[in-house]
Amino acid sequence: MRECFELRDTDAGGRIGDLAVPRAGVTVETPALLPVINPNLDTISPRRLADEFGAEILITNSYIIHGDDTLRERAIEQGLHEMLDFPGAIMTDSGSFQLSEYGEIDVTTEEILAFQREIGSDIATPVDIPTPPDVSRERAEAELEMTQERLEIADAADTGEMLISAPVQGSTYSDLRERAGSHAEETDLDVFPIGAVVPLMNDYRYDDMIDVVAAAKRSLGADAPVHLFGAGHPMMFALAVAIGCDLFDSAAYALYARDDRYLTVRGTRALEDIEYLPCSCAVCTEHSPDELRSLPPNERETELAAHNLHVTFAEIRRIKQAIRAGNLLELVEQRARAHPTMLDGYRALLDHAAQLERSDPVSKGSFFYTSHESARRPEILRHHQRLERLSVPDSLLLTVDRSAPDDGFDEVWRVQPPFGPFPRALSKSYPLTAEVPKRTDRAALEAAAAGITRLVEANPNASVTLAHRGWPTGVLETVPESVQLLDLLAE
Ligand SMILES: [Zn+2]
Repeated sequence: MRECFELRDTDAGGRIGDLAVPRAGVTVETPALLPVINPNLDTISPRRLADEFGAEILITNSYIIHGDDTLRERAIEQGLHEMLDFPGAIMTDSGSFQLSEYGEIDVTTEEILAFQREIGSDIATPVDIPTPPDVSRERAEAELEMTQERLEIADAADTGEMLISAPVQGSTYSDLRERAGSHAEETDLDVFPIGAVVPLMNDYRYDDMIDVVAAAKRSLGADAPVHLFGAGHPMMFALAVAIGCDLFDSAAYALYARDDRYLTVRGTRALEDIEYLPCSCAVCTEHSPDELRSLPPNERETELAAHNLHVTFAEIRRIKQAIRAGNLLELVEQRARAHPTMLDGYRALLDHAAQLERSDPVSKGSFFYTSHESARRPEILRHHQRLERLSVPDSLLLTVDRSAPDDGFDEVWRVQPPFGPFPRALSKSYPLTAEVPKRTDRAALEAAAAGITRLVEANPNASVTLAHRGWPTGVLETVPESVQLLDLLAE
């Protein structure tokens, strides 16, 4: 067991956890946002991040500090916490990003880890190789090997109480991400960033991002805190949490502010295009869009950055509440409507329903069927698995409502799209208490038919009749031929 991370709640692949950071003497609740602090530019001071926004952890770049004589001396003399004036936990990056941008850097993993320890970092990072998406397999494999060697160096280094991150690379090759995940899992390292996903997010490839994370998660243990490196837009946090990400770092709040861009959970808006501010943070209640636009550039940047952070932290809280209430996937579904590429991301997430099912609680507060994608949620998959274990009488009527003539059957079970059949005894148990629309859709009927098929195939000797109400032929054709059909609309 990894001692630094403890799970408290789960919903789908999402979790609320406690990340103990011994060197800082604090426990960070996850999902957590790590605002990125550029040691040279202070858009919002770290002290303000803690006091006004409740930031428990931030991230800064040890390589930038190492490369600047003044900063380096101050950091060594004062320590990071005093230099930045931040009371929470501080994670440091290593220069890997600079390596990927400029092709080379002038420190080794040993040197930068020792430096991170010297300046008082709480979570340090080795110099991994961020392999971009879509490179050749040879390159992805060769660079993954280098990353793994560096993780082994980090694993063997004397780093005291400082936690160490173990970045998981492998480009867009799922099997390499899986291999990287199991290698990282075997080390004694502590935090697991999924690396080099920024290019995917910059290209709105949220479906590929989900596949990459899902692959890494398959081989990382449930007690491994996972960091989605470089993911800072609040629009995609719920999606990323649902596949199992626990930590996010946001430079977006400051970078977007510098470009006069205003973050919302439904995407980014240019300040010049905004007539009404859809937010009730202090910045947005105290200014009109015109007032924001007429501020001097520095002030405007700070105000926009503050708004961007408020939106981002609010979304993290909303996600935690959704995990507590058991409706994280409903939140993901709402966010998926913000952009077609987000919908691709949600659909990719549902491709991994079996993986999500393993951490999904058996019982939750509610199941709201709010789009045809809901028919592929893990709860439905689990119900279908359960159908195989139920005992079935010799003759069974499955019916969509009470109007079916039920004499002559040993038992009558309800059929509820999207779940399919279930015995009366289960009708009050989750997820069969779901709220579903009266106007059912084809995806729900198809999922119900798949449940019937599963039940019939597990009980080939039972005589099964399905009383439906005008189900389309295409759906009925997916049910085994042995099932007698009765259309209640035709009665
Ligand atoms: Zn606002």
